[in-house]
Amino acid sequence: MAYRYLFGPVCSRRLGTSLGIDLVPLKTCTLNCVYCECGRTTTLTGERREYVPTDQVIAEVDEYLAKNPDLDYVTFAGSGEPTLHSGIGEIISFIKDRYPHYRIAVLTNGTLFTDPAVRAALMRADLVIPSLDAVSEEAFRKINRPCPGITAGDVLEGLRTFAEEFTGELWLEVFIVRDLNDTEEEILLLKDAIASINPDHIQINTLDRPGAEIWVRPALPLALERIASILGGSTEVIGAVRAGQAIPQKAEEVIDLLLATIRRRPCTLDDLTAILGLRPAEVTKCLRILEAEGQIEPIREERGVFYRTV
Ligand code: SF4
Repeated sequence: MAYRYLFGPVCSRRLGTSLGIDLVPLKTCTLNCVYCECGRTTTLTGERREYVPTDQVIAEVDEYLAKNPDLDYVTFAGSGEPTLHSGIGEIISFIKDRYPHYRIAVLTNGTLFTDPAVRAALMRADLVIPSLDAVSEEAFRKINRPCPGITAGDVLEGLRTFAEEFTGELWLEVFIVRDLNDTEEEILLLKDAIASINPDHIQINTLDRPGAEIWVRPALPLALERIASILGGSTEVIGAVRAGQAIPQKAEEVIDLLLATIRRRPCTLDDLTAILGLRPAEVTKCLRILEAEGQIEPIREERGVFYRTV
C-alpha cells in the first residue's frame, strides 16, 4: 500500500525510530517561521478543519501498525501545524485504543493551545513538543510571522494552561536564529516564560538545513551553549542525527522514500543516509535518477549540498 499520510519510519535525532503522520497539506500553518525547513507557509491560517480525511488516515495507520513494526514513536509532524486538523484527537484515541503499546508524540507550534478543544485532543499523547522561540511581540513577529490574531502573549498563556492540564511528558523546543532571538534581553524573557511553563525538558535548536528565508543564519555552537546555560534546568543543545537502523527497501520504494523525505525538507546525502538508514551508495544512485528525471535539484549551502524538489 502506498501511504499518503504516513512517512518514514525515520531515524529522528530526538525520537529514535519514528513513524510520521502528516495531517495537513504542504504548507499549512498558523505561523510562517523564517527558519522553517518546509519552506514558506502557503496557507497561513488559524482555521481548524478536516484538511485530509480522518478515516483515511486511520485506515493507513491501522494497516501499518497491524504489522507490529518496531517503533519508538508514532509522531504527528510534517507539512505544517498538525493541531489545525480537527480530527487529530480522534486519530490519537484510535491508536491508543487499538495499539496502546505505541508511544505517541506531537510536534506542534503550540499556537492553538488557547483553544480548549485542541488541548483536550492531545491529552492522550505520551509526549508533546511545543516550540517557543520568542516572548516579546516584536521578536515573535520577526521570527514566527503569525497569522493575524495570534500574539506572543496568547501563545504563552495557552502553553501555560496546557502544561497545567497535560499529564504526559512535555518538552519545549526553542529555535535560535542568529541576531533575531539571541539577545540577552530575549533569552531572559524566555527563561522566565519557560519557568512558568515548567516543561520536563528543554531543547535548543538552530538551523542545520535551508530555512524558508535565505538570509537566516544558524546560531554558533558557543552561543547555543551560552543560551543553554542561561536557561538552566534540563536544557540540551540538540545534536546531530544519529545513524539510523537499516530498514530493507526495494529500489522503487527507496526512490519514493527519498522523494517523500526531500519534499518535506531539503536534505544532504548524509542526512538521507542517517534518516533512512540506507547505504550512501544506494542513496546516491537514487538521487541521480531523481535528478535526471528533473524531480529534485542540488543546492549548495554552508553545511554541504542539499537536495530539494523542483
Ligand atoms: S517551523 Fe513549524 S510552526 Fe514554523 S512555519 Fe514551519 S511548520 Fe509552521
